[in-house]
Amino acid sequence: QPGTSGAAARAPSTGKPAVTSDSVINLDHGDPTMFEAFWRETGDAAELVIPGWQTMSYFSDVSNVCWFMVPDFDQQVRRLHRTVGNAAVDGYHVLVGTGSTQLLMAALYALSPADAVEPTSVVSTAPYYSWYPAVTDFLRSGLFCWAGDANSFVGDAYIELVCSPNSPDGAIRDAVLGSSGAGKAVHDLAYYWPQYTPITRRADHDIMLFTMSKSTGHAGTRIGWALVKDREVARRMTKFVELNTVSVSKDSQLRAAKVLRAVSDGYDYDGGASASRHRLFDFGRRKMVERWRMLREAAAASGIFSLPEETSGLCNFANETAANNHAFAWLRCDREDVENCAGFLRGHKILTRSGDQFGADPRYVRVSMLDRDDAYDIFIGRLASLK
Ligand code: PMP
Repeated sequence: QPGTSGAAARAPSTGKPAVTSDSVINLDHGDPTMFEAFWRETGDAAELVIPGWQTMSYFSDVSNVCWFMVPDFDQQVRRLHRTVGNAAVDGYHVLVGTGSTQLLMAALYALSPADAVEPTSVVSTAPYYSWYPAVTDFLRSGLFCWAGDANSFVGDAYIELVCSPNSPDGAIRDAVLGSSGAGKAVHDLAYYWPQYTPITRRADHDIMLFTMSKSTGHAGTRIGWALVKDREVARRMTKFVELNTVSVSKDSQLRAAKVLRAVSDGYDYDGGASASRHRLFDFGRRKMVERWRMLREAAAASGIFSLPEETSGLCNFANETAANNHAFAWLRCDREDVENCAGFLRGHKILTRSGDQFGADPRYVRVSMLDRDDAYDIFIGRLASLK
């Protein structure tokens, strides 16, 4: 059982037991510990010391809509998007949140008319990220409510959540309902980074969400950001964060800014002294290519699993053709007698998230591809042996 072995056997950064060949392998959450190996090698580039007297005030920049955002965080977010070319930043407000989860809630609050008679419907194309229904409905808000699959939605007042590349299945998505009239879209671009997918265009949607958790792997820092075109929407989203947690940890923002700076420095070819040989997206892509190769071989060796077909495109960032190597595997068990793939894998000590949590068939599971090498290798070995 996870969590029952002695303290000595625990990995220091997670408190989780260290894995051995007969351990339960937990690939349910997308815990991005794969990136630790990269950050262990970067020396002091992403290190930070905060003196006792610093970051004490609630305030950071009272002239900004997002008055608690540390200016260097704002600058490093813009710089990284300009470096990668995955999202437009000119003319956008940057907002910081306690993870992009908080900003997702902030967007639902900001886009729901306060005077509507009925709660605004929140929809997303199935299979959708399992947290969308959970986060939308847990407080039973009078402002908005979960209304399921966007493809079967009828009506004109809605908020469509568009995740691209999509969790769980990695699909590249556009809004199916679009932003028109009373309908609005929120684009969750958590995985629109070069380690996972070719960067084929500079996204310029009205509201775009990003997170440290999936871009650099710093999920524990709990920092996400939103790029928002409309000032009034940005103001209302900021109001939500205020009413929810007052502001966002400045210590975490400083750390995030430092980490983002280290990532951009890795690609700052004109930067002279600031150019670094540590290149996060190169590391991430190498890892993901290798892991997807191992996974496809293991699925073929087993013969009872299928995976989404590999797609690729020209990556404007890497300047070469790159495959979609999603952060999750959307794995289907093809054995006739297995109706619940998550239960079947649990029987083999592999924890995954069942398809039914994503509004899909329980023959599917979502498997995290971002765990440490040791856990991933054990998972691959076990998967290949299942018949
Ligand atoms: N969107 C998607 C699609 C995600 O997978 C996640 C992380 N699990 C998030 C948003 C939120 O991430 P965080 O709150 O850690 O920033």
